[in-house]
Amino acid sequence: MVNNNFITTTLVDLVKINSVNPDLEKGGPGEIEIGTYIHNTLLTLGFHSTIATISDGRMNIVGKRAGASKGRSLILNAHMDTVGVKGMNDPFGATIKDGKLFGRGAYDMKGSIAAMLGVAKTISDQNIKLPGDLILTFVADEEYESIGTQALLKDISADACIVTEPTELKICLAHRGFGVYEITTHGLAAHGGLHKVGIDANLKMGKVLYELGQLSQRVTSAKKHQLCGEASLHVPLINGGQSLFIYANQCTINVERRTLPGEEESIVYQELRNILTQLHSEDKDFNATIKQLIWRNPYEIAKDSSIVKALSNSIGRANSVEYIGHTWWEDSGLFGQAGIPTVIIGPKGGGIHQQEEWVELNSVFELSTILLNTAINFCQE
Ligand SMILES: [Zn+2]
Repeated sequence: MVNNNFITTTLVDLVKINSVNPDLEKGGPGEIEIGTYIHNTLLTLGFHSTIATISDGRMNIVGKRAGASKGRSLILNAHMDTVGVKGMNDPFGATIKDGKLFGRGAYDMKGSIAAMLGVAKTISDQNIKLPGDLILTFVADEEYESIGTQALLKDISADACIVTEPTELKICLAHRGFGVYEITTHGLAAHGGLHKVGIDANLKMGKVLYELGQLSQRVTSAKKHQLCGEASLHVPLINGGQSLFIYANQCTINVERRTLPGEEESIVYQELRNILTQLHSEDKDFNATIKQLIWRNPYEIAKDSSIVKALSNSIGRANSVEYIGHTWWEDSGLFGQAGIPTVIIGPKGGGIHQQEEWVELNSVFELSTILLNTAINFCQE
């Protein structure tokens, strides 16, 4: 039903365009060139298309085909940025071998962009009239701070959304969220020979690290989710002291906590704060502060929601539909927070964020057909 040649040619063009996120790799060009390509393609296919500039060099593209009557509206969403290309042999080659297309972003997630444009192509060529609006959103910066989807959600809403991140064509109903925190222990700087004066912030942090290790074990063993597995906690960064022969006046760590659907921001924060309060009550020289730097909600959608049903019916082999959860965060968390029921489905491939990345072309064609059928099923009155 969809045009495989168009999808392949489009995907080759997309992979050949460098859209490395400039916040992840210095000199990365961002979304201007790829966004312009997508914008022009949408216009050629008779879609309404707008370029929404977010900041210097960063943009979203929003394509829209207005509904013929008052049907339900549907957003399809993909990000245009990719992670960096260090160590890759031919990141923008877009070579095809054994049914796989290779290159940075082929799988995450230019294959999905090509599948979405394939939907637009079929709707245009076959003059398919959907009762509700179909909105194709191509966003900036998912790989870093998601400024694209955050900006998008200020202007746009719909009755449902499909985020087309890779899922091996399985239906992803849930993913973990995360919080990032900064904890600082405050000591007292003094000459290394003055042990009665100095307070060592690094040793005080040792107490915090021990307690975090305990919390990490508790969190992993106590918090489990059917689709997303366990919650987790780790300390990716640590930085303390100024110099040899000086008592460390300050030590700072970052804590990364991966949360399960249902976990609340205030409770996750409180679990960490409690550690500091407890240590302070045991040691009058223990002095620490905590700051939440980032919070991203976990996400979950019910299997019997109408968008999930429309999607599973469109897969056409309902008995073999497989439901999964992801352990990493995706833009669906932001759509969910905005009150838009959202589900995730994307192609098959491998090498995500690694030195050799590929997508299976057949799965991109299949994804395009599934997305088209879901739009036809869902965008009814
Ligand atoms: Zn992605």
